[in-house]
Amino acid sequence: MNHTMMDYPLTLLPMLERAGHLFAKTEIVARMPDKSLHRTNYGEFYRRARALAEMLQKIGLQRGDRVATLMWNHHVHLEAYFGIPAAGGVLHTLNLRLAPADIAFIINHAGDRFVIVDDVLLPLFEKVRDQVKVEKVYVVPLTGAPIPAGYESYEALLAEAIGDFTYPDIQETDALGMCYTSGTTGKPKGVVYSERAVVLHTLTECLPDSLDLGQRDTLLPVVPMFHVNAWGLPFAATMVGSKLVFPGPHLDAASLLDLFEREHVTVSAGVPTIWLGIAQALEKNPGGWKLKPGLRMVVGGSAAPESLIRTFQKHDMHIIHAWGMTEMTPLGTVSRVKHNLSHLSEDEQFAIRATQGLPSPYVDLRVMGADGVVPNDGKTIGEIQVRGPWIAASYYDPIEPPTNWTDDGWFKTGDVATITDEGYVKITDRIKDLVKSGGEWISSVDLENALMGHPAVAEAAVISVPHQKWTERPLAAVVLKPDATATRDELLDFLRPKFAKFWIPDDVVFIEAIPKTSTGKFMKATLRERFHDYVLPEMQNQ
Ligand code: AMP
Repeated sequence: MNHTMMDYPLTLLPMLERAGHLFAKTEIVARMPDKSLHRTNYGEFYRRARALAEMLQKIGLQRGDRVATLMWNHHVHLEAYFGIPAAGGVLHTLNLRLAPADIAFIINHAGDRFVIVDDVLLPLFEKVRDQVKVEKVYVVPLTGAPIPAGYESYEALLAEAIGDFTYPDIQETDALGMCYTSGTTGKPKGVVYSERAVVLHTLTECLPDSLDLGQRDTLLPVVPMFHVNAWGLPFAATMVGSKLVFPGPHLDAASLLDLFEREHVTVSAGVPTIWLGIAQALEKNPGGWKLKPGLRMVVGGSAAPESLIRTFQKHDMHIIHAWGMTEMTPLGTVSRVKHNLSHLSEDEQFAIRATQGLPSPYVDLRVMGADGVVPNDGKTIGEIQVRGPWIAASYYDPIEPPTNWTDDGWFKTGDVATITDEGYVKITDRIKDLVKSGGEWISSVDLENALMGHPAVAEAAVISVPHQKWTERPLAAVVLKPDATATRDELLDFLRPKFAKFWIPDDVVFIEAIPKTSTGKFMKATLRERFHDYVLPEMQNQ
């Protein structure tokens, strides 16, 4: 039997149209480099996004051409998010924290034709300019400084639009955007998002048991718009009509807290490092900011320690722990306590919220161990493998033959986890970060999260170091909070009641800072290199 439904493509255009017509007066606020606040709304955003689309077509953009952005989170970046795909182009967000050589590699590999860059990021772009072949570079004047010779003005481009724009015939299978993985090894790999993938991801992301976003919300995405489309949040906010608040380049705890208070933010999102900083600021100055009760903070990118979830709860702030990756657009799991578990004790509920959570609708997830799919016993570890409508099936023009897909079509995430009988996924490690001592696995993530629950510890990373007898043993690298003190023995004693004896790290080293990737993840490979020849205490006399 044939169905009787319309063949209506799932594209971004209805989101743009809807926001422009239904939420025209809803505010979009952006913090500028000089810290002033720029105020606009979805009505103006709609007009300007379409003006950008019109002018991209007029300067010769062809379907599928890549337009790169080198920008902070602000209203003009939002215009690019919609204006570039609306013209039939592909939005390619560049990670401004990468080394110039990597940015140049990515621009060339993607074949970007045009670039839109914040004026404050021109010094960075200058470092790659000679290494890339792009046709035109449009500069967004955030500071009002004159546009240097050799560059075009973004505002002058938009000013030429006359409004005679009609959308091209965009299909749901068209490429909408691309983003390169921030992996710590090998060349960055490009992931290309389709219109359909982004639409389905956006719809699911807003569900109450996912991130629960709505028109009543004021959303501040701290997660950069150059990192997996800021977890899809700019699309989600535009679709449902949430007020948007952008932090611009000011990501320190005090600036963010100030913006939360001023703009009555109800939901925000970012990596644990950001929230650890905010937690410290709140602990130092309790009651210093009048925040919206029940402020939700989506935390992902790295594991959210249970202690962090607890700390925020004391301030009536609610962490929503989520897991995903660039190849997954990015959302894979969200941690919500199921209704049938609401009778559990507070401690048990905190433990559930510290897991990575339950797979989103349409994310098929399995944990594959050495002997096949692991039982849902919360103990047996294996690699998380996924498939679904917003999960990559390949990389863009891969340089090395990809090894990330199974023969039966699942994506191998490289994350190691257990899964409970209730379906909660708990990440214990990245495959390459596993510690295997005497043939037994030790979860570095569990040890780190426990250490970060100690009042003197700001951050902790646990790595494996070579050991004659046990092959590998865990070593804890700890950064203490400013003015705090703690000894090695104090920290190890703090861990002892929580873990089996063989899990306790053999030693603790105190370091200034944990090396991090451009998206805030611990770079354990760098730490492992640094401590490769570290002599553990019991081996010192051998
Ligand atoms: P990226 O592609 O840069 O977003 O990085 C994805 C990787 O970040 C995942 O494969 C995980 O290793 C890690 N990650 C993301 N979210 C979490 C989380 N909630 N807990 C632990 N690791 C996470």
